[in-house]
Amino acid sequence: MILELKQLTHRYGDELAVDDVSFELEEGELLALLGPSGCGKTTIVQAIAGHVQPTAGRVVLRNRDVTEASPEDRHVGIVFQQPTLYPHMTVSENVAYGLTARGVEPNQRDERVSEYLELVDLTEQWDAYPSELSGGQQRRVEVARALAPQPDVLLLDEPLSALDRQLRERLRKEIARIQTETGVTTLFVTHDQQEAMALADRLIVMNDGRVSGSGTPRALYGSPPTPFVASFLGRSNTFPATVVAQQPPTLRVGTHKLTVSNQELSVSAGTSVTCHIRPDGLSVIAPGSENGTALSLAGEVVTVTDVGRRYDVTIRTERSDEFVVETVERPPEPGEEITLELPRDRITIFETHDHDRGSTTGVPEH
Ligand code: ATP
Repeated sequence: MILELKQLTHRYGDELAVDDVSFELEEGELLALLGPSGCGKTTIVQAIAGHVQPTAGRVVLRNRDVTEASPEDRHVGIVFQQPTLYPHMTVSENVAYGLTARGVEPNQRDERVSEYLELVDLTEQWDAYPSELSGGQQRRVEVARALAPQPDVLLLDEPLSALDRQLRERLRKEIARIQTETGVTTLFVTHDQQEAMALADRLIVMNDGRVSGSGTPRALYGSPPTPFVASFLGRSNTFPATVVAQQPPTLRVGTHKLTVSNQELSVSAGTSVTCHIRPDGLSVIAPGSENGTALSLAGEVVTVTDVGRRYDVTIRTERSDEFVVETVERPPEPGEEITLELPRDRITIFETHDHDRGSTTGVPEH
């Protein structure tokens, strides 16, 4: 294991910024730390880099406990949200800076600078000053500077958030390429779920200082472990239900009974639960054409929005629950009576009182 965070907690005075966070990074892995602004991501990065002394918990790098070590005594590369290049130094001098600090010999230093400027495709900008570069080029110099000392871990703290959308996408692909070519173990911090899902092998989703879920983008999207992950990783429909039986897992949804096939229930009969389903998990069919394999709810089309690649259809059911359905097929018109089909294996169940941080009532089977 390259990096281990063990029950990391940090307070700024009364403010609990990070609350008992543990995770690990394996050699060569690209892990995204994802969550809304203020959830504690930067504090975690600073604790790994040694700029923040955590209130409790340990930081372990290559099996060495570095919690109390100085930043210089940890082999960590870091790229911050805001540009931090030295304006009076050229590109090559900026990249060489960290190498000099680490005592790399001058002849070896030039070789290393050249290697990393080539990696980020900026060889021709060797003698340029940061003010002569575009925003994207400056970011690439910073990546080269962080990588040149060949750190154990590369920390990227929202490195793309100050850039416009097209450039973000281009640089995101660049970072993926650089990470693959160098194999450097990377922690990529972002509040942008699309960016995290496109880039990372694995995600840690944070909410309010705590880990709300972790796993591959696909597993977290398809079977969210908490209501927060369900709503943060894409759109989510929710509706209330009551547990009828644990075995087989059976719910009552209005007047309908539903046996789910992808979860085991750990709560007893009579418990109120909240069910979640993605807009792309639902379908709209004509009344009377149900085949009995899904939960079928009668409803009416409220609005249809053509968003180019697909239609977003809002349905109101008999019980006044509203669902958004994403479909590429031409949908029925507003006002039409329809049947909404909810496949049993696409529904995730959460205990109702646990809405913010809670967990699923059962273990999704993958
Ligand atoms: P952002 O993306 O907005 O930077 P973040 O997820 O990185 O957010 P942190 O910057 O780690 O979150 O902040 C976590 C919490 O700690 C926030 O409530 C923030 O206001 C608070 N905080 C951060 N730094 C300090 C500080 N130096 N002093 C006091 N409170 C702080």
